[in-house]
Amino acid sequence: MPKMNFDKINIINENKIQELTATEACKSEIKEILQKGEEMKGLSLNDCAKLLSIQDSELLEPLFASAKKVKEAIYGPRLVLFAPLYASNFCFNDCEYCAFHTRNPAPRKKLTLDEVKEQVEILEAMGHKRLLLEFGEHPVENPIDYVVDVIKTIYDTKKGPCEIRRVNVNIAATTMENYQRLKEAGIGTYQLFQETYHEPTYKKMHNGPKADYERQITAMFRAFEAGIDDLGIGVLFGLYDYRFEVLSLIQYAQFMDKVLGVGPHTISVPRFQPAHTVDINLKYQVSDQNFLKLIAVLRLAVPYTGMIISTRETPEIRRQAFAIGISQASAASKTEPGGYNKGEHASEAQFNLNDHRSLDEVIQDICRLGYLPSFCTTCYRVGRTGDVFMRLAKAGKIHEMCQPNALLTFKEYLLDYASDKTRQVGEKNILNHLEAIENSETKKIIINNLKKLEQGERDLYV
Ligand code: SAM
Ligand code: SF4
Repeated sequence: MPKMNFDKINIINENKIQELTATEACKSEIKEILQKGEEMKGLSLNDCAKLLSIQDSELLEPLFASAKKVKEAIYGPRLVLFAPLYASNFCFNDCEYCAFHTRNPAPRKKLTLDEVKEQVEILEAMGHKRLLLEFGEHPVENPIDYVVDVIKTIYDTKKGPCEIRRVNVNIAATTMENYQRLKEAGIGTYQLFQETYHEPTYKKMHNGPKADYERQITAMFRAFEAGIDDLGIGVLFGLYDYRFEVLSLIQYAQFMDKVLGVGPHTISVPRFQPAHTVDINLKYQVSDQNFLKLIAVLRLAVPYTGMIISTRETPEIRRQAFAIGISQASAASKTEPGGYNKGEHASEAQFNLNDHRSLDEVIQDICRLGYLPSFCTTCYRVGRTGDVFMRLAKAGKIHEMCQPNALLTFKEYLLDYASDKTRQVGEKNILNHLEAIENSETKKIIINNLKKLEQGERDLYV
């Protein structure tokens, strides 16, 4: 592949986006855009700006209804679950919003590899199969060798019937050589949030190596060049005008699609949460209504991109977000290194959380809402990543693989980790979703594999 050389100018057109944030639209225009959105081919920036201008509930309801249709058509009832694993909160940066910033005098913690193993065993015992690995940026404490060792330790740790099968990684923007090391270590998605696409705000919010806006905005292209083709983007909502951020995310996604031939694998929608020693101006705080609206707009704008919500959000907001666009959620998270066995300490955690339920409780809730919890990691393990994945998704084929694999991985969870109550609710859930499968051949294969799981086999997928 030719060496790619991008700068921020090509990627985000700040003036155009700023203009679009003032867009308004009438009822008939909104209805037309929603119809277009339901065709699942994405939407233009102009259309998205119009949707973002919606304020009254008379138009919000149809927006949510359209987003729900698209979510159901592409992702079906599946909801993929994961947990973050914080390896180290040593950090060189002084990001205004984050409790790991240098101005926080609290002692820092970096997990030894034995401690990584211990944390992973706890996560495995809950039933998790997918982790999102998190580090502060620190060239001395968290060099790439340490990151790679942590990833290897996770993949090598197996206690009980199942293991962690996919490690996604969220580390600061880095060099192509370092991304190659991540690729060789077998990471799933590389996630990096721009935090804010608004450059003046970005500059105000950051101090340290991360203050380099260009380094941040071009990171995904270096990662791609290094061979990582499942890339996850996001912004931290609450730093600047959410309409500007959503339009920028969409422009960024469209740019990725154009130049890399593959858009983002996921978009995360973290909303700012209070944190120890953090005191930022809350002028741009995003209300619950606007938060749900932006999720629905993103769903229509980039229908084939997975969308991730975390335990920053309350159970109630998460439930509403699942319906209108979210396809992946974290559960039972801790945001401090070692948090899974030592409990929470506000001064060492990255930010406050609003969903403190166990994985078992989250799963029971999800089942009651009619969704199918999934721990599937098949695509990445059989090489269906990047544009291969996208082509299958756009042709409507991914559904045929995801639904069976969601059922099989959920069955594993029920057999090995669920409480009695969840097992009861979950088995009923499996039957309901099995019944809904129309292709009799596929159904036969799933039933066969479900039996094999009951007889003790594990890690089955189609
Ligand atoms: N240190 C790396 C970096 O900054 O890119 C890894 C990511 S950091 C551990 C994870 C993410 O948490 C950040 O990208 C940021 O969006 C989010 N975050 C930081 N402070 C937050 C806060 N107070 N509330 C919500 N999310 C926050
Ligand atoms: Fe460090 Fe990342 Fe927190 Fe910034 S957001 S202070 S880089 S951990």
